[in-house]
Amino acid sequence: MEQAAVAIVGGGASGLAAAIAAARLGAGPVAVLEKQDRVGKKLLATGNGRCNLENRDSDAACHYHTADGSTLRRMLEQIPSAQVLRFFEKGGLLWSEGAEGRVYPSGNQAAIVLDTLRLEALGRGVQELCGFAVESIRPAKGGWLLEGGGKALLARRVVLACGGMAAPKLGGGEDGYRLARQLGHTVTKLYPCLAALRCRADGLAALKGVRAVCGVRLLARGKELASETGEVQFTEYGLSGIPAMQLSSRLPAGGCEAEVDVFPALDRSRLTAMLHQRRKSGLYPTLESLLTGLLHKKLAVYLLKAANIGPLGLPPSRLRPADIDALAGLLKGWRLPVTGTAGGWDGAQVTGGGVPLAEVEPDSFASRCAKGVYLTGELLDAVGDCGGFNLHWAFGSGIAAGRAAAQSLTKPGRV
Ligand SMILES: Cc1cc2nc3c(=O)[nH]c(=O)nc-3n(C[C@H](O)[C@H](O)[C@H](O)COP(=O)(O)OP(=O)(O)OC[C@H]3O[C@@H](n4cnc5c(N)ncnc54)[C@H](O)[C@@H]3O)c2cc1C
Repeated sequence: MEQAAVAIVGGGASGLAAAIAAARLGAGPVAVLEKQDRVGKKLLATGNGRCNLENRDSDAACHYHTADGSTLRRMLEQIPSAQVLRFFEKGGLLWSEGAEGRVYPSGNQAAIVLDTLRLEALGRGVQELCGFAVESIRPAKGGWLLEGGGKALLARRVVLACGGMAAPKLGGGEDGYRLARQLGHTVTKLYPCLAALRCRADGLAALKGVRAVCGVRLLARGKELASETGEVQFTEYGLSGIPAMQLSSRLPAGGCEAEVDVFPALDRSRLTAMLHQRRKSGLYPTLESLLTGLLHKKLAVYLLKAANIGPLGLPPSRLRPADIDALAGLLKGWRLPVTGTAGGWDGAQVTGGGVPLAEVEPDSFASRCAKGVYLTGELLDAVGDCGGFNLHWAFGSGIAAGRAAAQSLTKPGRV
């Protein structure tokens, strides 16, 4: 039977970081068990193929969502952004910082990140066991017995780095939660995050493909839950783009609405005055032409129809001042009922919920249920905003767990 000092279940972002961190400390053979035919498949798809691998503001808990904010803050203190970047520098990766603290590989290619990780892992003797889908983890003499698909491996320490439910085509699934439960852990309610918002509104198909910088507020019974500004992508089912994806992590259990402001840089009184002035100017022959130069044409036509203030061929001079006020109100606060996220797990980048943070040690990510086991990444109940926060969490927790697992073997008494 195969044996390892440290076995990593899952060759994704956190698993590869854990393997390298453990191998750097030289505590004995390290093996990565990966159910797919190769490691790091999801990593290749991150950041639209560029891999937004870190964010310089990752230490701030406000960028994450979890049921246990105080434990999360303690964990983030253990894995500062600078530490993750040093980890990559030591492995030979050049990185550069873009807008809003987003960090990318200088070569602007996710494949470079994966190549760098794999090169170091293999160079340090880490064994990649692909096609090994772990189905059970049981205590055995001197450690843990990992089995699946007729294969078995005995390991003294195990890092559970199976990821979450999101993006099943890239390795997402429920295995990690099942294995964690086998070990005595619990799992909170899971929900898709960083996904487009599905909205109920007539004729949205007309807006498919339109992009516009908008403000979006999420409202539940009129109360603001969260807001984002950025480029919204309109689709036939609702709203996509970074603002919508960010808000998808905040959907309440009951219903809610997205309030879209298509002129986030103009306050309502200025916009209203501008529209009144256009109405009177005589330069705009029809209602349809009233927003010319201000908005994407398809969005303008859609909203003029939705405002229901008159036929598109109507001369603006025939509108009442109250009609212009109503139009300005719609342009600054177009409300769409949100019915959920789009595309289920396929459409989500990450999983909300997971193994409660209180069930692992905040410094080492060691399981409090199973001695010698560590849990990392998306499997845990913490989900970050867009911008490199999720990979920070994955890499940071992987480094901490891999290091602690190896140290527990070299420093007697520490598990
Ligand atoms: C399209 C897309 C783009 C993204 N872009 C970004 C981005 O730019 N920046 C960012 O911060 N985040 C991004 N994310 C999120 C980020 O990729 C994840 O948060 C991160 O990969 C989670 O790391 P992980 O190690 O926990 O899980 P994963 O990276 O998902 O790795 C888990 C691995 O475990 C394997 N596995 C599962 N079960 C078993 C089993 N039973 N036995 C063996 N192996 C198993 C899986 O096949 C997989 O390889 C993106 C996600 C997606 C889907």
